[in-house]
Amino acid sequence: MKRADWRRTYAALTVARSRITGMGLFAGTRIRARAKIGEFEGEVIGLREARRRAKGRSIVAIVELERHALDATDTGRGFRYINHSCAPNTYIRCTPVRAEFYALRDIRAGEELTADYGETQHNGQLKCRCGAKGCRGAI
Ligand SMILES: [Zn+2]
Repeated sequence: MKRADWRRTYAALTVARSRITGMGLFAGTRIRARAKIGEFEGEVIGLREARRRAKGRSIVAIVELERHALDATDTGRGFRYINHSCAPNTYIRCTPVRAEFYALRDIRAGEELTADYGETQHNGQLKCRCGAKGCRGAI
């Protein structure tokens, strides 16, 4: 099987107003289940610096990896715009140096991409607005 060119899928993603909250990330093309969609881009910073920066921010665009973190705050595109859903259509696979996004199921062009954030700095203090059946109610 030909290796899928995820960079094309990634380049086609668009940022637009979300039905969930704020801005969201949308598929520009059809994405097949289990296909790689892209990687989280951001400034590489230390874990301590990541926690310092996250404090007092309402929107945190930082992903923590094993030994460092990626801060996408000044990145105008990409996965910093992906919203949380309790029934997401993507999943995140973290390697020691990357956070990669994959499709959980077939995704239509124009569909909003969502991921399960798992543990966040909100520690369940933020009301979830994903609207999914079985929503956990908080992030
Ligand atoms: Zn939810």
